[in-house]
Amino acid sequence: MTAAPGVLIAAGLDPSGGAGLLADTRVVTALGGRPVGVVTALTVQSTAGVMGVRPVDPEVVRDQLELLLTDVEVRAVKLGMLGSADIAQAVGAALHYTSAPLVWDPVLVSSRGGVPLFAGDLGSSFLALVPHLTLLTPNARELALLSRREVTDVDSAVVAAEALAAELGCAVLVKGGHLPGGEAIDVVVQAGRRDELTGPRLPGGEDVHGTGCALASAIATHLARGADLVEACRAAKAYVAGLIAAPVRPGRGAAAVL
Ligand code: PLP
Repeated sequence: MTAAPGVLIAAGLDPSGGAGLLADTRVVTALGGRPVGVVTALTVQSTAGVMGVRPVDPEVVRDQLELLLTDVEVRAVKLGMLGSADIAQAVGAALHYTSAPLVWDPVLVSSRGGVPLFAGDLGSSFLALVPHLTLLTPNARELALLSRREVTDVDSAVVAAEALAAELGCAVLVKGGHLPGGEAIDVVVQAGRRDELTGPRLPGGEDVHGTGCALASAIATHLARGADLVEACRAAKAYVAGLIAAPVRPGRGAAAVL
């Protein structure tokens, strides 16, 4: 019997299940991984939006991760919403127990607006996580904030991602879904290399909740199964496009990827 490769998820809890840990576990399972994970923050949230955030005690997060990673072998890690700089540091400290590739979707605000999903100093959070980072998957707004550059189209997003990739020493995925253009072009930017992933622009894709979570989890699962980075991003993009084409409506508000 071949065991499904372990994928560690550290993410927030969205009770409606459209994003965060609940959505991530479904993606990992669907793509043949075995999810293990910790909750970084509890959100008070419905399909209509986020009303509140309570980060989990950073010490609990660190203890959980240390115990888990000295017990269970994981082949990839997906980080989503971390909630606070203290939790980012706790996660960074515990990640010394694994050398698995790490994908971070640096969730700062929900695409539906509402209360911020991250509090505290972003710089210290990055310092703690950068040594472990394989790929960062910011949306256009997060990319502009993190790179301190204007991001208005795919070209300016690639310039910003190249600067960020050089600064952090990891790969950055430019996600074209929220940028203007006929096609939804994603670009994997890494030192000395750019790979374009093209796909059709799906009507209403920007309004579907949880696309960023699903994409990062899908990439992590493909990496855990042995794909290289560009292959993993390409397969994950195709998978998420399929989800966006047939979204679910779990409540009265936004549609969700799954
Ligand atoms: N992760 C969690 C736990 C969330 O609650 C949210 C919420 O909005 C997100 C990620 C980002 O989701 P969205 O796709 O709406 O930007």
